[in-house]
Parts: sequence; C-alpha cells; structure tokens
Amino acid sequence: MSWQGIEGHDQVVERFRRILTGGRLASTFLFIGPGGIGKRAFALKLAQSLLCERSADEALAPCGDCPSCQQVVAQSHPDVELVAKPKDKSFIPLETFIGDREHRMREGLCHNMALKPHGGRRKIAIIDDADYLNQEGANCLLKTLEEPPPNSLIILIGTSEQRQLPTIRSRCQIVRFKPLPVKVIATLVSANGISQTRGETEALATLSDGSMERAVQFAEPELAEFRQELMTRLGKLFERSTGFAADVGAFVDAAGKDAPIRRERLKLVLGIAADYYRWLLHARTGHEVHGDEVLARVLQQSPVARDADAVAACVERCLDAQQQVDANANQATLIECWIDDLANLMQGTRA
Ligand SMILES: [Zn+2]
Repeated sequence: MSWQGIEGHDQVVERFRRILTGGRLASTFLFIGPGGIGKRAFALKLAQSLLCERSADEALAPCGDCPSCQQVVAQSHPDVELVAKPKDKSFIPLETFIGDREHRMREGLCHNMALKPHGGRRKIAIIDDADYLNQEGANCLLKTLEEPPPNSLIILIGTSEQRQLPTIRSRCQIVRFKPLPVKVIATLVSANGISQTRGETEALATLSDGSMERAVQFAEPELAEFRQELMTRLGKLFERSTGFAADVGAFVDAAGKDAPIRRERLKLVLGIAADYYRWLLHARTGHEVHGDEVLARVLQQSPVARDADAVAACVERCLDAQQQVDANANQATLIECWIDDLANLMQGTRA
C-alpha cells in the first residue's frame, strides 16, 4: 500500500489519521528511523495535508492542485520552515535557528515560527538531520519546544533516539519508521532507473537494508568495486596484507575534502565489514546468500571460520569503530588500529 506516493509507512499514516480525527495533534514530533526510507518526504506530505486549502486535516489527502499544495512541493510555502545540516558542516549551524550575528533573533527558524501563519492555519517546521543538533543549537530551540506558538507543528527527523539530546527527546512525541520492505526497494530502484538488469535490482534491494539511500550508494560502480575488494581482503587478513589501511584511507579520502562527508564514507566501509563478518557467521550454519552474487563468491573463497566467537568479536570491533568515527577519532589511527585488531582476532580462526 502507498499513501500519496509514499511507500511502506501505512502504520504511521494510520496513527496520524487517528490523532487528527481526535483533534489531538501534539506540537512536536520526533521521526526516528534509518536514513533513506522516506521520513522527510513523509513530513513534507503531512505538511501539505495540513495546509491544503481544499482538504480537511483528518482526511490526510492533500489535493495537490491548490496554491498551498503547490508551494509545499516547491518548498516555497511561507508557513513551512525546512532546515537540515549543510553537507560541509558537522552540525546544524546556530544561525539556522536564531539568524546570523547581524540579525540575531530577527531571522531563523525560532523567529519565523513565532510569526502568525500567512495562510491562517498553522506554521510547520521540519528539522531534518536532528542527529546533528549540538548543545548550542538545541538550547536555542528549547524555548520554542517548551512554549510552542499556537497552531505550530515542529517535526524533528533523526536516525535513532540515542543520538538525540535528552532535553530535546523528552519534549517530543516519538514516531518510529521501519526500513522499507525489500520488494518496495526493488520496485523503486527499477522504476527510477537506478538498476538496469533484474540481477542488479535484486542485488541492490538485498544490500539496501530497506534504505533507498543505501541502494543508491551501492549502485555506484566505485563503491561496488571497493566492497568486493574490501571483503576479499578481510577474508585473507591473517596473511597481514600490506597497505590495506592506506587503501581504505585513500578510498575514504576520495569521498571529498569535508570531514563530515569522509566520516560518513568511513562508517559505510565499517558497515560493509560488519556485514561481511555477520555473513561469515551465518555461513558456518549453512545459511545461503540470495540475491548478492558478489558476497556469495567472496564467502566461498573465505576461510572456514572455526572460532565463531572471534568472528563475532570482529563484528563488534567494526561497530565500535563506527562509534569512534562519531566521536571524531583521528581517521588514520582509527583505520590502522581497526585493521590490526581484526587481523589479531582472525588469527585465531585459521583452520
Ligand atoms: Zn491542496
């Protein structure tokens, strides 16, 4: 089922329909779920529904034609504030909320939300990338969340509850979004021309973990190639392959010159490694890979992991490393230590 062209989130639609029918719309929501599953598109569609000039709130059926609907689509609606972390920044900048130095408290989201709605109905703010709200930004937002202007709706969008500051989290109603079903991803990658063949569609859908963002990433030939090489080398790690850390570092650096972009790339690499070790564990119990020929081939060539505990420890080590990336650890040191530790753990698994 799809709602207004948005796939896979019918339960959330139903929840909002119940809330709106009862006339009990809270002022602040926190949308939680993995990236690339349509949370932002959902928030925009909800905004369109709540501002449509021809449709009642509880219908959740924006007409798509009225000036208000069209302005939401064009992201030019005077009553919708949509903000996100700029790609080259580590946090959502302070001025997003309270204006720059010359216009403090006279511009920005908090100021705009306190104004009367142009259309008379309500003001809606969508704060994407809420994972990247720092203490300073959160403090600015707090007053708006504590004393929301009448008829205002604020939607924060993040990937996990743990990544939100407690002061923010405690003031929001939490709405959880699930990853998209594999079938939905397959339909979307094929319909959007991201995959060309049936095999490719199947592989991308399998790799996506229910996220379109991931499916698109894995459609890049460089990443697909690097993934194969990474997994192959991980399988031979006990041979102490030279230059491995440098190669990983070079691939991460190629993502771009801005640190936040490189950090995302490194987390992706660590995630690929974690998945590989998980599959190495599954393979011990005869679990077969479907839809991912590259992984199937690499696993066939990988050594039989005798010591399951050591392989499980490798998974953990990759997840730890992902957290270290978030804690801004030095990239080169992190990669070297990570590979060293994996090599030591894998020594024990050699048949
Ligand atoms: Zn409309």
